[in-house]
Amino acid sequence: MTTPNLDGSLTGKRVIVTGGASGIGRASAELLLARGAQVAIWDVADDTLAVAETVGAHGQVVDVTADLGAPVAEAAQALGGLTGLVHAAGRASVEPVGAFTADSWDQVVDVNLRAHALLTQAMLPHLEAAAADGAGPSIVAISSIEGMAANPWIPAYCASKAGLLGLTRSMAAQLGASGIRVNSVCPGFVVTPMIQQALDIPEIRAEYEQAAPLGRMGQPREIAGAVAFLLSDDASFVTGTEVVVDGGLICKH
Ligand code: NAD
Repeated sequence: MTTPNLDGSLTGKRVIVTGGASGIGRASAELLLARGAQVAIWDVADDTLAVAETVGAHGQVVDVTADLGAPVAEAAQALGGLTGLVHAAGRASVEPVGAFTADSWDQVVDVNLRAHALLTQAMLPHLEAAAADGAGPSIVAISSIEGMAANPWIPAYCASKAGLLGLTRSMAAQLGASGIRVNSVCPGFVVTPMIQQALDIPEIRAEYEQAAPLGRMGQPREIAGAVAFLLSDDASFVTGTEVVVDGGLICKH
């Protein structure tokens, strides 16, 4: 039986971070490691293994839309069990309703939403074992304010991020009895490679910077703080909900 850490420490936590080679996923992996967790970084990026080595994580080149059984087994073996997941792998496609295709729709929804459901399913025996051991299993999806407020340009992305909020509540309702907590984080605009193309257009950068009451965009480390909280035993009574980290942007909608 593991003793709960009520000091924000993540000692004893063993966490897969998808999309962990970049942006919010990487910042989350680094903060979890700094707080004592063991981490497996999963990504499709070319530098996945190099990033993992740099930050002191176990690295795996994994496409989250592929079969996840073997990668989960490898992560569990490498970390000595699994107590948590951060699903930060994501993609967006600027294709309004007149433009997306069945394929481009699936590519977005499969990475952002379907993979979170199937990865949680594949991890379930490990999370149940962690619960039985008192290790406080917790999973976190990186959703978005785009799952809460309208953006006309990215309907597949909005649908996938809203879907994550519904999936979070459904899985929390089922898995609470097993002692597994399930939550989402909804970032606002965060400076990462995902939105770099938009930030290269001065008018859009200015719009993003002024959108939130705090008058700036967020940094990946500011999202990681919420992720680390939700994975920690400090959040032991938090499940089935989302933490919005957006500089106040959504309160204006
Ligand atoms: P990012 O581009 O820096 O990171 C996304 C990572 O996901 C990349 O390393 C990419 O290689 C990986 N990835 C993509 N498809 C994958 C796949 N099939 N399998 C494994 N890995 C895959 O962008 P980010 O902004 O850090 O994005 C992280 C999450 O945060 C995403 O889910 C994104 O939708 C969400 N988000 C970002 C913002 C923002 O403003 N940046 C706002 C709200 C939500």
